[in-house]
Amino acid sequence: MAKYVFVTGGVVSSIGKGIASASVGRLLRHRGYRVAPVKLDPYINVDAGTMNPFQHGEVFVTEDGAETDLDLGHYERFLDVECSTLSSITTGKVYRNVIEAERRGDYLGATVQVIPHVTNEIKRLIRQVAADTGADVVLAEIGGTVGDIESLPFMEAIRQLRKEEGRENTLFMHVTLVPQVGPWGEIKTKPTQHSVNTLRQIGIAPDVLICRTDVPMPDDVREKISNFCDVPMEAVVESRNARSIYEVPLMYEDSGFGHLVTERLGLEAKAPEDAEWRQIVDRMIHPKSACTVAIVGKYTANGDAYKSIAEALVHAGAESSTDVQIRWIESDQFENTAEPAQLLADVDGVVIAPGFGGRGIEGKIAALKFVRETGIPFLGICLGMQMAVIEYARNVCGIEGATSSEFDPSAKEAVVDVMPDQAAVSAKGGTMRLGQYPCNLEANTLAHKLYGSTRISERHRHRYEVNNNYRELLKEKGLTISGVSPDYRLVEMIELPQHPFFIATQAHPEFKSRPNRPHPLFLGLVQAAQAHMARATSASLA
Ligand code: GLN
Repeated sequence: MAKYVFVTGGVVSSIGKGIASASVGRLLRHRGYRVAPVKLDPYINVDAGTMNPFQHGEVFVTEDGAETDLDLGHYERFLDVECSTLSSITTGKVYRNVIEAERRGDYLGATVQVIPHVTNEIKRLIRQVAADTGADVVLAEIGGTVGDIESLPFMEAIRQLRKEEGRENTLFMHVTLVPQVGPWGEIKTKPTQHSVNTLRQIGIAPDVLICRTDVPMPDDVREKISNFCDVPMEAVVESRNARSIYEVPLMYEDSGFGHLVTERLGLEAKAPEDAEWRQIVDRMIHPKSACTVAIVGKYTANGDAYKSIAEALVHAGAESSTDVQIRWIESDQFENTAEPAQLLADVDGVVIAPGFGGRGIEGKIAALKFVRETGIPFLGICLGMQMAVIEYARNVCGIEGATSSEFDPSAKEAVVDVMPDQAAVSAKGGTMRLGQYPCNLEANTLAHKLYGSTRISERHRHRYEVNNNYRELLKEKGLTISGVSPDYRLVEMIELPQHPFFIATQAHPEFKSRPNRPHPLFLGLVQAAQAHMARATSASLA
């Protein structure tokens, strides 16, 4: 029978609830327990796929093609598991199921209500994660902040789950903020008291408080929280800002939190096996060198929009003992300068990021021309690959009007065009080419060398593809198509053999990178960036 850990958040959003939960999961993993994460999101969208990345950050895509909240990315990276459609429960999904059941007549005769029908459906979905994964512990994080109207049905559902599963099989953790205020930086516990009060009003008494703080919490502060919130001292856990997010589980471990969690869940106390994780974190915190990689994208004002790309660079950096410093560049910026050199002069590598719609596209093309001509290492992802092909078509193949029909549906030279099976699709939610698909790599290409295999599988999220009518011309003019779908229909990867490192993929490799298993494309980019930096340094010394 699975145990359940529920994580709620208080005071304000964005205090790192996802990292805190994922870190708790890591503590359990280090003890050999299998953890299945699930994110409960109170928004009414059925999934995150239709949300604006500026507002909501990255849409994380699972192997089975669910478009989910970026927190699932943290869970995959911290727990080294693969999430699925089941791992994401939204209000939209819950209500859709309930309303469909009502229409089928499943509740015939009843008045369908939030309690019990909606809460029952939430509980069913959470339990389904336990049943389908066979995990020892289901780790369920509730999105939003305690007190939000939207999250009430989720709170009520987890309250009921505790009653039904038993106290000994459930653990309530509340992540809260303990701020410093005033001229003397006094540490304040009142927001935590209020937020725990709000929780108690809805029938949830937290077992553990994870206190986010900038400074160490003196014992008297912990004692005050313990007294006012009715949580034992040892369960008031200090959670300070870490040098790397991957250090958080180790800070928790060192404060005795790992032991506390297993004890409270009635799990056998085991010594944590975290030597490998400690080694990785040590390499992240004490790099031997540094390099700069630019991420050129359309949503750089919110770095969360490219969370998995940034993390994949961190993983590759750790493997190479180098600190990869990210320079965020909004693609429009290239449209306002005649000199891309100024924006990319001192970078060692460039990622052209995924995205949707026409804004900033010409900027990406300008950046790409510069990158291609000057030999800066380059990795293109999804829209980034499509742009690389368009730039090549325009500036090398001489097709002046080359573009994508995404930006101009009546384009004469749609070098990137809508996929045939997408042409008739009008509904936008969950209808892209989503999730994992296999790809065959051409032998002896850069892609083959990096992956070390000719058969790979990556996750996807797109509607457009390289137009096959232009394949021959692109190849004739020197572009290598190094990866194709097994039916040959779809261009999955391209590269330029004469360039030091120029590779792009229609897929989203960032979703599969792990701290302990950096993705080969990102590792390749970071190593090429290091080589680029070494070349640039010796040229300047010469
Ligand atoms: N907008 C492009 C498409 O739909 C690229 C999508 C992406 O970058 N994820 O094909």
